Amino acid sequence: PVKELTAQVAVLGAGPGGYTAAFRAADLGLRVVLIERYPTLGGVCLNVGCIPSKALLHTAAVIEETKGMGAMGVTFAPPEIDLDKMRTGKDKVVKKLTTGLSSMAKQRGVEVVQGTGRFEAPNRIGVDSREGKVTVAFDNCIIAAGSCPIRIPGFPHDDPRVMDSTDALQIDGIPERMLVVGGGIIGLEMASVYAALGSRIDVVELKDQLMPGADLDLVRAFQKVIKKRYNKIFLETKVSRMEATGAGIKVEFEGKSPGEDTYDKVLVAIGRRPNGKLVNAEAAGVKVDEHGFIKTDQHMRTNVPNIFAIGDVVGGPMLAHKATHEGKVAAEVIAGEPALFDPLTIPSVAYTDPEVAWMGLTEHEAKEQGIEVEKGVFPWAASGRALGIHRDEGLTKLLFDPETKRILGAGIVGPNAGELIGETVLALEMGADMEDIGMSIHPHPTLNETIGLAAEMAHGSITDLL
Ligand code: FAD
Repeated sequence: PVKELTAQVAVLGAGPGGYTAAFRAADLGLRVVLIERYPTLGGVCLNVGCIPSKALLHTAAVIEETKGMGAMGVTFAPPEIDLDKMRTGKDKVVKKLTTGLSSMAKQRGVEVVQGTGRFEAPNRIGVDSREGKVTVAFDNCIIAAGSCPIRIPGFPHDDPRVMDSTDALQIDGIPERMLVVGGGIIGLEMASVYAALGSRIDVVELKDQLMPGADLDLVRAFQKVIKKRYNKIFLETKVSRMEATGAGIKVEFEGKSPGEDTYDKVLVAIGRRPNGKLVNAEAAGVKVDEHGFIKTDQHMRTNVPNIFAIGDVVGGPMLAHKATHEGKVAAEVIAGEPALFDPLTIPSVAYTDPEVAWMGLTEHEAKEQGIEVEKGVFPWAASGRALGIHRDEGLTKLLFDPETKRILGAGIVGPNAGELIGETVLALEMGADMEDIGMSIHPHPTLNETIGLAAEMAHGSITDLL
């Protein structure tokens, strides 16, 4: 038996992009069907991404912080770690949020269909649900199918000792020796967690710096801290072979740091692949490129006028806050509102310890594109608050247009950099200049004061730091 549903808006995928779009469309009075293959809503971000990783990273940060308290006359015994409880604690956070989403869907009358959906015709999706086949005939559709971790062909990914980020979040054990393949945000966040739990970490990155995309001065400040905690960081080095042996996962390196080594566990975090090819978009005439991305215009519309796409599947930074904003735009456009996805910036944050955050133009991009900037840098070594929390490694950097003095970009490294960067995003979106930021009275002593001070440094209204 086939159950037939009709929808003004069918949303395929219930990650941050999909659920936001579904809820917004329902709030605008449209009849919405939300299709999700997994039993819980929330997608990668809530289930196996942003949220569980941040719960573990907080635990890691607390462990690291206790180590630094000796200077203030307090020493803690080495932590006793109960992995089962750690997992349960993390899972509880996830459950609270995903069940919250389910009830929000109910409240709005969004019909959720659990199962894998595929386009069958220009206006129809077929879903293999547990209750049998369901078809959803739609007026409009939003593809929000997300992404999945990239695997390297020929590597023993089926061996449980070779993990992707989802496996790593399960913290099945604390490996003595762990290799993180990929020095991007996801790999380094998980490295922060396992290092705090006691693993000896090596990181290997193909490019010439960790966190490609971030300015080197920020990465250097970050690296100064992790150098003391990690065993080795190999840059411009590639893993050329990986073999599962009785003694562990044997890895061969090629490039700047050639050699071989054996690890108890390896985390492969070399990027994510969009799920565009998994939805049979061709049946609806939607173009999917060779990588699996679905291109859209600024209204989030694909090449087919009543089919939209949002989130990781459309390309750009694969970030939850991008997906949610795109989701809103798609829903509003469908409802006939004049919406457009046109942000001046999408901030990036690595929730590592220390955190690294940046937004707008980076110094590297400015140089590459021949854009002149004026720079204000405030080192946290001159911040009373940073010294008080024993974290003077940080820095706050602001970039301004030399003519208009408006902010163009910002980079912050240090604890809570991810919280702090928000002010600079608002400044950029509002067209704030050096004086707007520098003369806004920031509370003292705070880390957020470093933003005002960095603007004053650029302005020349303060020159002495201490
Ligand atoms: P997804 O969250 O990937 O959701 C897509 C959903 O579609 C999934 O639930 C999937 O099951 C479903 N689906 C796919 N195909 C079908 C189908 N055919 N039928 C039915 N359902 C289908 N981003 C941040 O901004 N901040 C962070 O701190 C952060 N941390 C991260 C940490 C980790 C470990 C990882 C892996 C990612 C992290 N991200 C973070 C990225 C973030 O999770 C993604 O950018 C975000 O989830 C993308 O949202 P989305 O809605 O596009 O897709």
